[in-house]
Amino acid sequence: MALPRKVAILPGDGIGKEVVAVGREILELYRTKAGFPLELWDLDLGADRYLRDGTTMPEDVFAEIRDNCGAVLLGALGDPRVPNLEHARDILLGMRFRLDLFANVRPCRALDDRLVPLKGKGAKDVDFVVFRENTEGIYVNVGGNFKKGTPDEIAVNEDINTRKGVERIIRAAFAWAQNHGKKTVHMADKSNAMRQSGDLWQRAFQEVARDYPASSAKHVYVDALCLFMVQAPERFEVIVTNNLFGDIITDLAAALHGGLGIACSASVHVTPDGTPRVGLFEPVHGSAPDIAGHDKANPLATVLTVGMLLEHLGFAGEERRLEQIVQAAVREKKCTADVGGTLGTKATGAFVLERLARELG
Ligand code: ATP
Repeated sequence: MALPRKVAILPGDGIGKEVVAVGREILELYRTKAGFPLELWDLDLGADRYLRDGTTMPEDVFAEIRDNCGAVLLGALGDPRVPNLEHARDILLGMRFRLDLFANVRPCRALDDRLVPLKGKGAKDVDFVVFRENTEGIYVNVGGNFKKGTPDEIAVNEDINTRKGVERIIRAAFAWAQNHGKKTVHMADKSNAMRQSGDLWQRAFQEVARDYPASSAKHVYVDALCLFMVQAPERFEVIVTNNLFGDIITDLAAALHGGLGIACSASVHVTPDGTPRVGLFEPVHGSAPDIAGHDKANPLATVLTVGMLLEHLGFAGEERRLEQIVQAAVREKKCTADVGGTLGTKATGAFVLERLARELG
């Protein structure tokens, strides 16, 4: 069954609003110029709305996303005026957990030699995808404090790993590798120190790997992975890991191919029979209050994110098309300062839109 082509657009906070404005225009261009049957649904949710009337994620909005949307395009959530991030918790974690978006997929592909900061390495050396488990680990907020505020204070955070959760993210990584012609899947853990969870990850990895005999299944300790990602990133094609390690290594990965301004991501639920479900698409960066409102934010991460979104909705080839336009923006320096250009957010977006309009005829 095909996914609904309704896309919820949630700019959120800070630079999220500026970069999603570009993403929205791209989707609108596909709708009007290429006749893609997209329905764009603008959502006024985020810190401004929360501060105005206390709304975070209304139940009817959540139900509409769950039942009638194919994708959500999210900018960023985070605002200094909401220090406890209550709105972000309800909106972002609400969708991530309640829609069971267990696979956080983060491509790390360098689009130009100039974006690779490693000595002696270029774009051809940095091309891998990280599958980060997105619903378990230490992010489930299980734990507690004892004797808080005293010299004997104890703080505990539990690391939750279920057989089901571990197996399905590993399976998603192998399935993706198989579908994209990638030969090697690395599983990163810290099983030499975290023995119980490590043992579960190790067994699940070996067992799932048997179902994908064409893929070479390799284990790497996460600390060694950080070393190799810098020394020899060309070793990696697909990396699967838990929530915490995935969070950390994907920032390192972003630095290998141009930084946060160009790193895209998807959070999806992969059903065992491959039936598509609504997915959440967002640039990896946050709300960046330091540059918000100054037309400095790089919108290219959002352009690449829109590519992933369109691919998810079944528009094959559009991810590659947008990637090539982003590549041209970087090569021709029609981009923001963080990736070597001199343009602002709007002018970078205009370059992308103009190229896309030309291509869509
Ligand atoms: P949040 O609290 O929402 O996570 P943050 O500022 O702590 O926001 P990020 O937004 O992820 O974290 O980014 C850290 C820094 O990287 C920002 O302060 C900004 O200077 C830079 N940065 C992030 N995204 C971009 C972008 N799209 N374009 C240019 N610079 C960016």
